[in-house]
Amino acid sequence: MEKLNHLKIIRVPIPTPTLLPHTTTNCYLIGNNQESILVDAGYDKVETKIELERAIRENDFAIPNSIILTHSHPDHAPGVRQLTDWTPVVYCHHLEKQATLTVISPWNEISFLNDNDSIKVAGEDINIIHAPGHTSGQLNLFIPSKRVLLAGDNIVAEGTSWIGPPDGDMTDYIHTLNRLKQLKLTKIGPGHGDWVLNTYEHIDFVLNRRLYRENQIKSLLKEHLQLTSTHLTKIIYEKLPHPSVFEVAKRTTEAHLIKLMKEGSVTQQDSYYSLKD
Ligand SMILES: [Zn+2]
Repeated sequence: MEKLNHLKIIRVPIPTPTLLPHTTTNCYLIGNNQESILVDAGYDKVETKIELERAIRENDFAIPNSIILTHSHPDHAPGVRQLTDWTPVVYCHHLEKQATLTVISPWNEISFLNDNDSIKVAGEDINIIHAPGHTSGQLNLFIPSKRVLLAGDNIVAEGTSWIGPPDGDMTDYIHTLNRLKQLKLTKIGPGHGDWVLNTYEHIDFVLNRRLYRENQIKSLLKEHLQLTSTHLTKIIYEKLPHPSVFEVAKRTTEAHLIKLMKEGSVTQQDSYYSLKD
């Protein structure tokens, strides 16, 4: 009798030029020696394939027959180009189709996964969640037998994800986090950094940070009457970790402003924002 080979989930950090403080992007192998899939493909560099195939060997996995991309950003999707000799089926959400095809070209075959889809890997169910926020077509995966959530860039291990237009939407993001909180979770596999074990605490930390930022923006607009998103960002982030992060921080501020405008508490005239009275 062959020994039962249970499903395993392995985090494989791939070196990438991503946003500080993170220096790697996580790929995840799910499966066993009979069948496996890969979640996210990292950066388009030979090291991506070397690292993945090392992890496959060390953990006794079959070569993945599918690659599921959580989103099309350059540190998550273009690594598909390095993995074409696996002849994988590549999946994304249909809202990321164009952006994904652009970054994985010349690979031009793509399949789609939708909210509430379920796939089987090594005999176990994996639930697909359409989890917009960081990007509109963000896909998250939930493995009920392990209570593991792979959260793409909706969750990062250190600090908070950046959410900015045009891809990101703060209203969607808050909805998504509240939905993910309903899952029975033991571990979250983030887009960057180590496994998150204090799952609910971490999601609450992110929700509270966003709420704090939103209130801060409202009180700054109250105090200054009108401000541009650049001014707001300069006041909010007095001590940015690195100057290269300013543009990203500004887009996160704008994502908050868009949410507040949708809710009717802020208005915009030219590049100035003010509280609606
Ligand atoms: Zn991203």
